Amino acid sequence: MKKNVLIIGAGGVAQVVAHKCAQHNDVLGDLHIASRTIEKCRQIIDSVYEKKNLKTDGVFTAHALDATDIDATKALIISTGCQIVINVGSPFINMPVLSACIATGAAYLDTAIHEEQDKICETPPWYANYEWKRREECAKNGITAILGIGFDPGVVNAYAALARDEYVDKIDSIDIIDINAGSHGRYFSTNFDPEINFREFTGQVYSWQDNAWQTNKMFEVKKVWDLPVVGPSQTFMTGHDEVHSLSQNLDVPNVRFWMGFGDHYINVFTVLNNLGLLSEKPVTTAEGLEVVPLKLVKAVLPDPSSLAPDYTGKTCIGDIVKGTKDGKEAEVFIYNIADHKEAYEEVGSQGISYTAGVPPVAAALLIANGAWDVKKMANVEELPPKPFLDLLNKMGLPTRIKDANGDRALDFS
Ligand code: NDP
Repeated sequence: MKKNVLIIGAGGVAQVVAHKCAQHNDVLGDLHIASRTIEKCRQIIDSVYEKKNLKTDGVFTAHALDATDIDATKALIISTGCQIVINVGSPFINMPVLSACIATGAAYLDTAIHEEQDKICETPPWYANYEWKRREECAKNGITAILGIGFDPGVVNAYAALARDEYVDKIDSIDIIDINAGSHGRYFSTNFDPEINFREFTGQVYSWQDNAWQTNKMFEVKKVWDLPVVGPSQTFMTGHDEVHSLSQNLDVPNVRFWMGFGDHYINVFTVLNNLGLLSEKPVTTAEGLEVVPLKLVKAVLPDPSSLAPDYTGKTCIGDIVKGTKDGKEAEVFIYNIADHKEAYEEVGSQGISYTAGVPPVAAALLIANGAWDVKKMANVEELPPKPFLDLLNKMGLPTRIKDANGDRALDFS
């Protein structure tokens, strides 16, 4: 049965979600996109028509919505008859959107943990701070709520589940590695909202090691990985949502997240941070003007979505999973390679948005066909990984594996 989908947010990730939903509107039904700025929704719908991405003739409508208004979100879900809500707005709206879904019976999907505007850099235990407090409410009301279904978190959680099911009986460590080896040609830019990007790196770094939270400073723990396609890549340990859920749900003693950073990013970030330009606390200029430094920096940096036309190169994101299989040491790297230019040609977005925007649409299709319509709150590693990875193979994010048997594509069909 067609479900009708409401996409909330109209940023870089929402653009990919919109195109991918359109390519599957024969299954998903009517499509709706809502954000604070309706014009951004209209532009996304126009780009879907320009690229001729609607599979069949059908509804695709733009709406103005402040998703922190639970009643307004409920009313929109009811009036559009949407049974699936893909929340790809900023992380500040997760809890109100989840409330609206619980009240209306719609399935809920998001791609990042909830954050509060006034708290810089959410501290562990991430999912337990907000989302997991509502597990019982979801189960009681039969609500399917799939948390963190982007690439990381999201696909990397499915890779971990696949490793557990097929390649490593007893997992000792999961190292998630995220490399963007692309180039946008600008002096400096973040790949997504600068405010969200910088907030991730101005606080302490948390990792799960020896079954406990460990803390480090940002850019303190460095590791170079030699990876397929992108080659030797400099990474730094950073905190990330899925470190929490994977350590708890898969009972793994060591879960670390490694983000690739070039020296140029680190230099610019360090200067901005040391000057106080990444602060969220307002300052007053000599002219009496009150300014929030972080918001000023955001205003002068390129809009991340404007990078897409010139972006070249590839991303490599995956999990190194180590442990034992049948009593012997085992190690696998399960990963994806995405291409910025190919993403732009298909959906008008750069590769980072593409890797984050395709997975929630695959999940929506699995809710529509029942495979993931679990009627409770779940992180991705709690769901069967193969139907999801099979769909991603067909939707532009193929899975590969590198282990003792070589480097090869994985087929799940
Ligand atoms: P953008 O900043 O580009 O877009 C966010 C959108 O949210 C904007 O269109 C904005 O609206 C909208 N929005 C914000 N507040 C509200 C509100 N109160 N009501 C309605 N709409 C609102 O973000 P991205 O597209 O880059 O990222 C979207 C989400 O995806 C984020 O949560 C991010 O953390 C996550 N993400 C996850 C990844 C993963 O792999 N798991 C990777 C990358 C991102 P407007 O502009 O109309 O004012």
